[in-house]
Amino acid sequence: MSISKTDAKAVAGPAPSPVSCVQVTQEALALMLAEAARAAPHECCGILLGAGNHVRTARPAANIDPSPHSRFEIDPQALVDAHRAARAGGPQVLGYYHSHPGGPPRPSATDAAMAGGDGRIWAIIGHNGDVMFWRDGESGFAELSYQRVQG
Ligand SMILES: [Zn+2]
Repeated sequence: MSISKTDAKAVAGPAPSPVSCVQVTQEALALMLAEAARAAPHECCGILLGAGNHVRTARPAANIDPSPHSRFEIDPQALVDAHRAARAGGPQVLGYYHSHPGGPPRPSATDAAMAGGDGRIWAIIGHNGDVMFWRDGESGFAELSYQRVQG
């Protein structure tokens, strides 16, 4: 994904505090799984919205990477819109999701190279329907546990 450092700083606001557990709504999980299945064999991608460590919504975005089988790049306009809505009082942009249609739900070497190290949450949907959550921290990705919640 190619969010430039400058853009991320300009629109990010306060970084979420580091924790080892996030709460995720059933709706967000179901949507990510459905999007991964729909997009395969391409990677799906989108934006995680909510507050603090509570992911309420997964919003699909177009994967504009020219190699969508093995890479993703979230449509920059979708990110701009989400950050603008957050500044206007909408849900915070907590992070991003994407799928690995041919592999496990762990950050790939490409993901590590593209990561901003900005503390955001990454959800990855693996080829067998497993979802894992990661914190994109300064020293690399750290696995997060997650809890399904109703809303
Ligand atoms: Zn990936």
